[in-house]
Amino acid sequence: MKKTRKWITSPVNLYPAAVTFQTCFELDKSVKKATLKASAIGVYAAYINEVRVGKNVLAPGWTTYNHRVLYQTYDVTSMLAKTNKLEIGAGQGWAGRHYDGKQVNPIVTAWLDITFTDGTSERIATDTNWEVYTSKVTRTALYHGETIDHTAKIKLIGNAVAAKPTAKLEAQDGEDIVEVERIAPIELIRTPKGEVVIDFGQNMTGYVEVKIKGKRGGKIVMHHAEVLDRDGNFYTDNYRRAKNENVYVLSGKDDVFKPIYTFQGFRYIRLTEFPLEKVDLNAFRAVVVHSNLRRTGYFTSGNEKINQLYHNVVWGQKSNYLDLPTDCPQRDERLGWTGDAQVFCRTGAINYDVEKFFKKWLRDMRLEQREDGVVNIIVPSMWKSHPSAAWSDAVCIIPWELYLAYGNKDILKDNFSSMKKWVDYVRGYGPEEYLWLGEIHFGDWLAMDGGEIMQGGTSHDLIASAYFAKSTENLILAGEVLGEDMSEYKKLYKNIQKKFRSYFMENGLPKDTLPKTGHLYNTSEPCMDARKGVTQTALTLILRFGLCTDKEKPALAAKLAELIHENGDRMSTGFVGTPHLLHALSENGYTDLAYTLLTQEKNPSWLFSVNHGATTMWEHWDSLKEDGSFWSDSMNSFNHYAYGAVYDWMFGVAVGIKPTGKSPAYKEITLEPHPSKLLGSAEATIDSRNGFIRSYWYYKGDTVYYEFTIPEGVSAHLTLPSGYTETLSGGTYHFAE
Ligand code: BGC
Repeated sequence: MKKTRKWITSPVNLYPAAVTFQTCFELDKSVKKATLKASAIGVYAAYINEVRVGKNVLAPGWTTYNHRVLYQTYDVTSMLAKTNKLEIGAGQGWAGRHYDGKQVNPIVTAWLDITFTDGTSERIATDTNWEVYTSKVTRTALYHGETIDHTAKIKLIGNAVAAKPTAKLEAQDGEDIVEVERIAPIELIRTPKGEVVIDFGQNMTGYVEVKIKGKRGGKIVMHHAEVLDRDGNFYTDNYRRAKNENVYVLSGKDDVFKPIYTFQGFRYIRLTEFPLEKVDLNAFRAVVVHSNLRRTGYFTSGNEKINQLYHNVVWGQKSNYLDLPTDCPQRDERLGWTGDAQVFCRTGAINYDVEKFFKKWLRDMRLEQREDGVVNIIVPSMWKSHPSAAWSDAVCIIPWELYLAYGNKDILKDNFSSMKKWVDYVRGYGPEEYLWLGEIHFGDWLAMDGGEIMQGGTSHDLIASAYFAKSTENLILAGEVLGEDMSEYKKLYKNIQKKFRSYFMENGLPKDTLPKTGHLYNTSEPCMDARKGVTQTALTLILRFGLCTDKEKPALAAKLAELIHENGDRMSTGFVGTPHLLHALSENGYTDLAYTLLTQEKNPSWLFSVNHGATTMWEHWDSLKEDGSFWSDSMNSFNHYAYGAVYDWMFGVAVGIKPTGKSPAYKEITLEPHPSKLLGSAEATIDSRNGFIRSYWYYKGDTVYYEFTIPEGVSAHLTLPSGYTETLSGGTYHFAE
């Protein structure tokens, strides 16, 4: 069998249209097995005899094209006939994720291996004999949407030409992207401006499918939006440069339209143009698209608002776990921001099985890690950037979280040297080996104590040095599991702790005002350098990242509680402080205050967005303000999962299930529920790699009743609020106290 296979492209760049590569072939013998493999720099869709191949959408996903691109494998045995047409359609997809028209000419490769019942075989593969045709997709762009014209005349362009990507071709190592569910509209709205808007009732990621029959050449022009403005009008400013515009031209027969090479983040659509007199809501479905992850975790409680919050956390994850962990799915970003990913990954790994999903992304992170150890702030990276504390530290946080959740040492093995390189980079940065001073950081991103400054009010040097400690600690933990000699890094960790305390703290508390390091080390470039040491985030990180002695904890926690009270029992934290805040409180005797924050309804709080109709997590605590106006037009996503990280507290502390590093993957867990009348009851389950675990408590009067289900072979170290302890295994247990 001839085993050649080429990368091909169109001889003419058809930008912004999609393109179709085609070959026809006859088969005289009966087929035993046929397997198609395909890939693209861009997004491809394969068809055999005009039937779409496989369930994947948006294949091959997004990787770091400088290094690699993935191919998918499909069993197409039943799709072949005597006379066959194999088509690979392609649009620019992520390869063209530019607002301003970088004219990407997608390139594809595909090979179909056929084994016949007589034992012979044949390969049909892309080469320069393939023909190139125009596509009915006459415009496609990741951010701007797609035009599909069912009246378009398909023209032969000529033969394909050979292409040579720098990317190495590798087999799919992530989860496939698929259509997961379809949502029916809940309302047809005529807005005050007179526009026709459809509400799907749920902010989400995917696209709208329309089934329609109308006059040939009739046109649907559809725009997307996450929210309506305070007057009830359609609002798209927060998409920034992303147009999210789909245009469909009717054939005159029964048409089904949905985008092929792009997706949108939305709850509403506006029918900017519609070819029929009447809008039949039944013709519209919102198709939810994300990585094909197995759902593992569920939560419910006696507090409906908290249940809605959990719903929003899950939908934040569904919307942003699309091939890689993204910040948001709608505006002109949709990027693998490492900070967002690391703060949410523990929660992500409770709700869904995300091991394979993250393995793929971490490989891209490693491939893009600079020689000097710098980890990009987004992966795949789009530009050369400075590193940032809490963002670049994802390289040390995520592998350890995955190990805790799934117990697979390979994830530590694969990432260990990258973790080490990162810690060594920070260690070697600037004149101070044991601190990280003077770099450009995102700080406590979007914290409320930063005033006008998005980088928050907490000293960036303090955050960076605290994360330096945390990353070093995780490196040591990983090294110990792998049997490495970690004595050097243990010494380093001790020195970081010591130096952190002498530089940032006095008398067991952080210094109020810290030195301003002022500029990027060795350059005159200024950096956003907040100086405060006594902030909720600073205290939280010191308590959580082992930067104080046990004796100092009560005073630090009391100070943290005091700051929260002074702020009207509300937090002032951003992306860095918030995920750890409730833990810092409950680990130090302030569980009630943690619950007060969890159930707080005044801004800033988790329930503020719930009270204002959120169906996903917002980027800002007050993305939508009390008076119905917006936080801003330019930086205001309604589908940013970072603050959804609060679920790891609800699961790990409120309901009380936590895996341990000693025996990970929930083989050995701590079971320490913290009931509260503010919830009335709470129940969480996880279908872990070691079986199904359930923890449930509810109040009857002042008595709390508990029910636990622990699988055979799992040891659950129970501690009830009274101090009662017992180790449970293999059964369902009831307690009351
Ligand atoms: C993204 C964030 C990201 C941040 C970094 C934003 O534009 O949407 O979620 O982490 O930039 O500061």
